Amino acid sequence: KAKRTPGKSFEFFSKNIYSEITRILNLKEKIRKVIEENNILIYYQPIINLKTGEIDSLEALFRLNDGNETVILPKDIIPVAEETGLIVELGERILNSVLKFSKKVPQNIKLSVNISSIQLNKPMFDRDFLLSLENSDIPPDRIVIELTETAIMDSVSENITKLRNLKEKGIKIAIDDFGTGYSSLNYLKILPVDFLKIDRSFVKGIGRDRNDEMIVKTIISMAKSMNLKTIAEGVETEEQLRFLIENGCDYGQGYYFGKPVPEDKIMEVID
Ligand code: C2E
Ligand code: MG
Ligand code: MG
Ligand code: MG
Repeated sequence: KAKRTPGKSFEFFSKNIYSEITRILNLKEKIRKVIEENNILIYYQPIINLKTGEIDSLEALFRLNDGNETVILPKDIIPVAEETGLIVELGERILNSVLKFSKKVPQNIKLSVNISSIQLNKPMFDRDFLLSLENSDIPPDRIVIELTETAIMDSVSENITKLRNLKEKGIKIAIDDFGTGYSSLNYLKILPVDFLKIDRSFVKGIGRDRNDEMIVKTIISMAKSMNLKTIAEGVETEEQLRFLIENGCDYGQGYYFGKPVPEDKIMEVID
């Protein structure tokens, strides 16, 4: 017979909440600190042109150093950064670091930056982004912005205007994690988009799941008919790569080609 220990479960529960609150407060402090010190770690992961095998672009993926060798990943940071609004300043710092870094990278390689819905939905996001770009002297067509469907759909007519303003200057636009968010094909038709990034969850199913394979093929052929390029996320195996090439996918990204690595490491790869 199970014995109940009164108070025990409550103690367990409140301890968890306490440590969760502590974790969030610590993270907030850490985010503030790296913004203040301009000390954000940015890793870069190559995106490969599947026709030529060459690096087309580098995606910037931020991390935080927690002071003892371990690196904190975006999935732990972004919710806190978004809730506190710190994501806006963090995003500006990241963009400026990426722009600075792009001067060291061969001109034919593009730089891809992720933008959160909070950033996109901020009034004047487009103007602020263009200002940073103008100050950097980087040609706008070397920069790709990655946005999720859901971020764009948040306030779709305002966002279409913003994206048009960016695209008019030459900035390229990718829909990240395509196929997992909330969107409508009707909007896809009018969105000023250049790339669809096929979500990793579908690529993972290649060779294992008929439905995933069908989804990947369908996204590629739909993209072709709309004059968009496709980028497969999370390519890890040769089998996946072969399937993607056979089905006309334009670009690939994933551990098969290379994991995200710090600036100095990526310079060794591209030199
Ligand atoms: P994402 O933009 O879809 O980035 C791809 C994520 O998949 C990255 O995780 C990358 O490390 C991981 N990945 C790449 N190839 C493979 C693979 O072959 N296998 C597996 N299992 N994973 C792979 P990461 O760096 O942890 O970033 C997670 C998400 O955080 C990103 O998803 C993006 O939405 C967000 N994020 C990252 N950097 C930034 C940033 O600077 N600003 C904003 N707003 N969001 C960011
Ligand atoms: Mg991305
Ligand atoms: Mg993605
Ligand atoms: Mg993803």
